[in-house]
Amino acid sequence: MELCDRCGTPFGKPVRGEWPYQLSYIRLANVPIRVCLQCGQREACIPSEGLLQSVVTRLVTSKRGRLSGEDIAFLRAHLGWSATRLADALGVDVARIASWEADEEPVDASADEHLRDEVNATLSADALAAVEAPPVVDPAPNAPVVEAGQPGTPELVLRLVDEDGPCTWVRERSGRGVDASNQEPRMAKG
Ligand SMILES: [Zn+2]
Repeated sequence: MELCDRCGTPFGKPVRGEWPYQLSYIRLANVPIRVCLQCGQREACIPSEGLLQSVVTRLVTSKRGRLSGEDIAFLRAHLGWSATRLADALGVDVARIASWEADEEPVDASADEHLRDEVNATLSADALAAVEAPPVVDPAPNAPVVEAGQPGTPELVLRLVDEDGPCTWVRERSGRGVDASNQEPRMAKG
């Protein structure tokens, strides 16, 4: 039986609901979420395979409109590049990177395109295909399915398939992808 590591109480049965993921405008739907009945701690079971992460990255590089500061920081983290390295690759001063990531000025069109190309070159064919032809049901366990929303819209919901594939339980307000700004994940009703 799984116990809450904060208070030692058994978790309730997981219920599928929604959970913020990676970027402010992306939510996962149909995510197993367990709640500690004693202290209220919430944990979500995020698919541990790389395809979900890759698909989210691909959604960003295929979004309509200019990349936001949040997007640029996300893509730079995906590449594992320092601001200096990205600045060199794009042929701009490093101060521009900080300015773009802070949304102090919009990214240049050419730099926007160049950054997307750099990131797309790192993605698998599966990730590229999953976004280029949504909605897609991937045969892989827990592959994400684009259910609603499109890149460039204010909010994007990725619905996980029902199979119980390998996953990692992540805590609210901690761990990769969970919004650190105190945003409450929304639970499914019922
Ligand atoms: Zn607890």
